[in-house]
Amino acid sequence: MMARVTVRERLEQVEQRIQTAVRRSGRARNEITLVAVTKKFPPPVICEAYSCGLRVFGENYVQEFAEKRPAVDALADAQFHLIGHLQSNKARLASELFQVIETVDSEKLARRLHECGKPLEVMIEVKLSPEQTKAGAAPEELPALITAIRGCPNLTLTGLMTMPPWNPDPETTRPYFRRLAELGRTHGLPKLSMGMSHDLEAAIEEGATHIRVGTALFGPRPKGAQ
Ligand SMILES: *Cc1c(COP(=O)(O)O)cnc(C)c1O
Repeated sequence: MMARVTVRERLEQVEQRIQTAVRRSGRARNEITLVAVTKKFPPPVICEAYSCGLRVFGENYVQEFAEKRPAVDALADAQFHLIGHLQSNKARLASELFQVIETVDSEKLARRLHECGKPLEVMIEVKLSPEQTKAGAAPEELPALITAIRGCPNLTLTGLMTMPPWNPDPETTRPYFRRLAELGRTHGLPKLSMGMSHDLEAAIEEGATHIRVGTALFGPRPKGAQ
């Protein structure tokens, strides 16, 4: 049997890739937060990643994380980001489970989150092309949505997030990253969550402050789980 590749070994490789991209783009390493995407992995994997020094985790499904959360409650100063689509009817549960909601895409959802009464950091998921998943606000919807979120005292809006149509070639996703960075500048939103396992270098070069990395840290996701 092949020896298991550990999270620590994979993290070293990811870290090297980040460092290379940071150097190439004249940025500083501390401008970039590595969000470890643990969807479909059980709590021991989150704990292993935590023991390797990772502190920020991304999860896609509210219900799945509700089941995992008790097992990771003891991880002091771990921060959990919701990076999957959020339905308004799950806003309350999400507000209890996550510190950051990266996928706010409607005024209705923003209002629901605000009404939960818990201070939350939020980002807006932006849909930059018709091929992207149904979720996400169109660029022309941003001004109204930003105004609405800023009118919700429990929500702190810090940035934008996007997920381009999947393509193995990072030069195909790069224009999406560039566009998101432009929108961030236009609207005065400093955080940009963009880039995944296969295109994190392009994202860093285009200004990402948060890269969301799953496969490159944990290997292929277990099948069947959702
Ligand atoms: C699964 C997922 C990721 C991580 O993808 P990898 O290719 O495994 O790195 C990042 N962002 C979102 C929104 C995801 O759903």
